[in-house]
Amino acid sequence: MANRKKLIVGNWKMHLNTSQASLLLHRLHERIKIHRDIEVVLAPSMLVLQPLSMQIDRRKFRLAAQNAFHKDEGAYTGEVSFTMLQDLVHYVIVGHSDRRYKFGEDLPMVREKVNAAIRNGIMPILCVGETAHERKNGETLQVLHDQVTTALSDLTADDVANVVIAYEPVWALSSGTDYTHHEIPTPDGIARSVKAIRNDVAELYGKKAAAGLRILYGGSASSSTAHGLMSAEGVDGLLVGGASLNYHEFSGIVDAAYRLQSEAKE
Ligand code: PEP
Repeated sequence: MANRKKLIVGNWKMHLNTSQASLLLHRLHERIKIHRDIEVVLAPSMLVLQPLSMQIDRRKFRLAAQNAFHKDEGAYTGEVSFTMLQDLVHYVIVGHSDRRYKFGEDLPMVREKVNAAIRNGIMPILCVGETAHERKNGETLQVLHDQVTTALSDLTADDVANVVIAYEPVWALSSGTDYTHHEIPTPDGIARSVKAIRNDVAELYGKKAAAGLRILYGGSASSSTAHGLMSAEGVDGLLVGGASLNYHEFSGIVDAAYRLQSEAKE
């Protein structure tokens, strides 16, 4: 199996002003140790990225933006480009279901954002996943295929080495507070979707590119479910929403990743 570093991403969504974010960072810093084999990424709001970038311990944390606009500059009032984020973040979340379904981002727009991220040397965390309706109709693998192949279609195999995919079934995402009692997929269900995503990438870019690709799971993960979710075959980490706003929860999730890495070495 390819040696893929575990990745835990906290998506703070539209929560926390600068001082609240700074306090959460402080609490996380107290609890999270430096782990060579685990990458911990925080995705605060756009406004908070700059102040947080001056406070983070870069040995422990990296930053991600939650979104960006695909043009590098121009008359696009209200937008922030990937170019502007270059020195600030390692990652940008692209194609999150909030963006697809609340802001109307379609497949070509998501592809443009993936292209802009790669063009600007930023790693896109591409979110894909089926809605409850698509799941009910048995369309999950087709939806994943369409989302993955469209988003990556302009890239080369070398570019794909800088892409992370997050499998986020839309029906499993919490509203931010109900993540401990929300329905989540079984490890087998996650493994099936992750395998299908990896096969789609293998068909486009070959087995080597697919084997190196990191695929996360996202949807109501918590400190008590993290170990099981990350044990699903092919899963390289978690994209965490609601639970990432709670420092006990988020540091517990990082601990679960650490436990899993230690078990794998035994
Ligand atoms: C998300 O929205 O990316 C997410 C994973 O949210 P939650 O963990 O709250 O379901």
